[in-house]
Amino acid sequence: MKIVMCASEVVPFAKTGGLADVAGALPLALEKEGQEVIIIMPRYKAIDAAKFNLKKLKDGVLTGVTGKNIKVYFIEKEGYFGRDGLYGDKNGDHQDNLDRFAYYCRKSLDLLKEINFKPEIIHCHDWQSSLVPVFLKTIYAKDPFYQKIRTILTIHNIGYQGLFAKEEFPKLGLDWSFFNMEGLEFYGKVNILKGGMLFSDIINTVSPTYAEEIQTKEFGFGLEGVLDKRRDAVFGILNGLDYDIWNPETDKFIAKNFSRLEPAGKAKDKEDLQSLCKFPLKKDVPLFGIVSRLAEQKGFDILAEGIDEICKMNIQMVILGTGDLKYHEVMQNMVAKYPKVISLALKFDDVLAHKIYAGSDIFLMPSKYEPCGLGQLISLRYGTIPLVFKTGGLADTVNSENGFVFDHYSKIRLVKTIRKAADTFKDKADWAQLVERAMKLDFSWKASAKKYLELYAKTKRK
Ligand code: ADP
Repeated sequence: MKIVMCASEVVPFAKTGGLADVAGALPLALEKEGQEVIIIMPRYKAIDAAKFNLKKLKDGVLTGVTGKNIKVYFIEKEGYFGRDGLYGDKNGDHQDNLDRFAYYCRKSLDLLKEINFKPEIIHCHDWQSSLVPVFLKTIYAKDPFYQKIRTILTIHNIGYQGLFAKEEFPKLGLDWSFFNMEGLEFYGKVNILKGGMLFSDIINTVSPTYAEEIQTKEFGFGLEGVLDKRRDAVFGILNGLDYDIWNPETDKFIAKNFSRLEPAGKAKDKEDLQSLCKFPLKKDVPLFGIVSRLAEQKGFDILAEGIDEICKMNIQMVILGTGDLKYHEVMQNMVAKYPKVISLALKFDDVLAHKIYAGSDIFLMPSKYEPCGLGQLISLRYGTIPLVFKTGGLADTVNSENGFVFDHYSKIRLVKTIRKAADTFKDKADWAQLVERAMKLDFSWKASAKKYLELYAKTKRK
């Protein structure tokens, strides 16, 4: 199958969030499945042409390679992409984002004809490439080259929709008849993501549960009605995990490597983490790890409420992350009060993150909402048992067979579940089985790529 990946950020070239991980890893997994994939993305200033050995294809287009032989095309325009920040800078969003990404989408479609690459599928991501399906079914609809191309739009976080003033609508080159409730209009503004959702053949998001949740008022950020209309075309596929980076057998950052069949090394990693945290080196005390943004979305509101009570239990807890200052403060106070129980690293630190995933017994991730979530997938791979709130991707990946789940979002239920996990930890044989089951699970990209191929095939039957 010929597939085009249209994404505004792609690992290893440019990244601000999880979208880049997906757009970088999925093409590689599809290539391994024998598919022909190309990627088209903007050429930002931050992308180092020399480092990635990029070549000029023609004016305004550079090319590079990722994976074994995946061509990456970079749409270049100094006035739009030759500046700092992918979407904005310290002053907020770039003011001309509609022009920038409309340009990127038009040029991406033009490029396909220029290089004579006629795909079966164009896979778009988030609002930045949402104009591809819109243009395809309007401006490009009469051109035979484009007529058979199908599109799929992946929504990574429905909170970001690409909203612009009505006055900007003419820049899209679309008839005003598309600016209404059935089109791109949204409470008097232009909503680019809504356009993508209406014009793509299939919509998906990054977990089956989040796909259902965004169809409700609580999670839909105003677009639940649009999703409801397209109910039959909405799907959820879990993101995969990069098993080359996250592998306890080969991880270079951890004190001792280990595996499901030879799990003994994990005890050494726990000891290493305990000494880093200046905790007593106790095997029998359950060590809870957190690697997260210190934000309400990640459950820090209920954690902050319950933390004093939690610190009184016979446990240890290490927290790595940055976020809202109010949570920094709450946790700093706890460290001052219970230095042998809680340790805090207010920073971004990849090495420490690996050590926490490997050395903890339990990974705490009580997110209020979570489109997919990576932390729980990483921790399962490292035999660190996740404790989560039942939402989004967490609900799809963690259950009583491999972790601890609470289904009512409150401090009381969080504290109760932490107590339960700490109690369960006391039974060594049961715990070893839990770890073994967790490590047996497969959340690699291979499985997710196969699901995407099935989804691509579904667009044809329409
Ligand atoms: P989100 O994308 O909403 O922040 P995810 O769970 O999907 O949450 O992904 C977060 C990723 O970032 C995980 O790989 C996690 O290990 C990593 N991470 C988050 N905070 C830190 C930090 N302070 N230091 C190192 N890695 C971090």
